[in-house]
Amino acid sequence: MLLRKVHVIKTSWRIATGEGATKIIPKFLEELGVYSSFVVCGENTLKIAGRSVEKCLTRSGMEVAHAIVEKPDLINVKVIEKKAKIKKAQALIGVGGGKNIDVAKTAAFKLKIPYLSVPTIPSHDGIASPCSSIFKGRKKLSLFLEPPAGIVVDMKYLSKTPLRYFSAGAGDVIAKYTAVTDWELARERKNEYYGEYAGKISSLAASVIIENASRYKEDYKSAVRLLVEALISCGYAMSIAGSSRPCSGSEHSFAHAIDFIYPENQALHGEKVALGTLIMSYLQGKDYELIRKTLGTLNLPKNYREIKIPKEILIKALIKARKVRRRYTILDEIKIKKKSEAEKILKRVSII
Ligand SMILES: [Zn+2]
Repeated sequence: MLLRKVHVIKTSWRIATGEGATKIIPKFLEELGVYSSFVVCGENTLKIAGRSVEKCLTRSGMEVAHAIVEKPDLINVKVIEKKAKIKKAQALIGVGGGKNIDVAKTAAFKLKIPYLSVPTIPSHDGIASPCSSIFKGRKKLSLFLEPPAGIVVDMKYLSKTPLRYFSAGAGDVIAKYTAVTDWELARERKNEYYGEYAGKISSLAASVIIENASRYKEDYKSAVRLLVEALISCGYAMSIAGSSRPCSGSEHSFAHAIDFIYPENQALHGEKVALGTLIMSYLQGKDYELIRKTLGTLNLPKNYREIKIPKEILIKALIKARKVRRRYTILDEIKIKKKSEAEKILKRVSII
C-alpha cells in the first residue's frame, strides 16, 4: 500500500544548448547504449537539421535512418513505429518543431525505447516535456508519456527562428500565468494534488518571459536562449508534478476548444493559448492589462482580427472550453452558458 504513495519524478538530465550542440548527439546516444537510431522529422527540418544530425551519427560509426512526418496523428505514429522496427532502431530522435517531436515521443513510448528532442524552433513547451498532442481523427489527444532522454538545443538553428514562432513559444510560457492559478483553485475547491515546487517553477518561467518581453528587439539570440530555458523549465515542472497541470489550465482548454470547433484555423498553439491567457486572467481577477501589454510587445495576436479567427468561433470556444476536458479551472466557477455572456467577456478584454 505504501508503494502507492511513492511519487516518481522522471526528468531529462542530458541537456546541451549552444552553437553546434548537435555534435553531442552521438555521445548522448552512446551513454544510453544506443548504436542504431531513427530520425523523425519534417520535409523542411530534414534539410535544415535532420541531414546534419544523420551525418554526425554516421561519422561516429552509428546506424541511422529517417522518416518524414506529415501530420501529428496516430497514423503517422504507427508509420514511424513500423519503420523504426524494421531498422531495429534503439532510440528515436525528434528533429524540428513540436509536431515532429510529439510524433517521436509517442512512437518511442509505444516502442518502449528512449528518444532525444532536437528542436529547431522554440514554439512550445513540448520540446522538453513528457506530454504530447496527437490527433486521433479530428480529436486532439493530450498524452502524458516520458520526458526526452536528452534535449539538444543547437543555437545554430534556433537563432534563426522566425519571429512568429519565437512569439508563439513565449505565448506558451505566458500561459502558465493562468494555468498555475487554475491549479491552485483546484486544490482549494477539489482538494486536488498541488505541487508547490512545480507551480513555482512554472510561475517563474512566465514572469521571466513577461519581464523580458521586449528583449528580442535588442538581442534576439539572447531572447531565444532565455525562452528555451523557460520552455525547458516548464518541461521540468510537468515532470515533477507528474502531469501537465502546472503548464496547462483554462487558457489551454480555450485553445483546444478552438481547434475542435474550427480545425482549419491557421493560428499557432502559443498564439491561441496566449489569447486564452488574456481572457482567463481577466476571469481570475488577475492583471489582464499586463498580459495584453505583453502580447502587444511580443507581437502576439490580441483580438479576433489579428488571430484571424471569426468572432463567432471565439464565442463558441469560450462556452465549450469548460467541457473539453475534465480539469477544474476558473471556467467551472464562472460557468459561461449563454452566447451573450461569452460575448460580454470577450468584449471586455477587447478581443471582439
Ligand atoms: Zn502549451
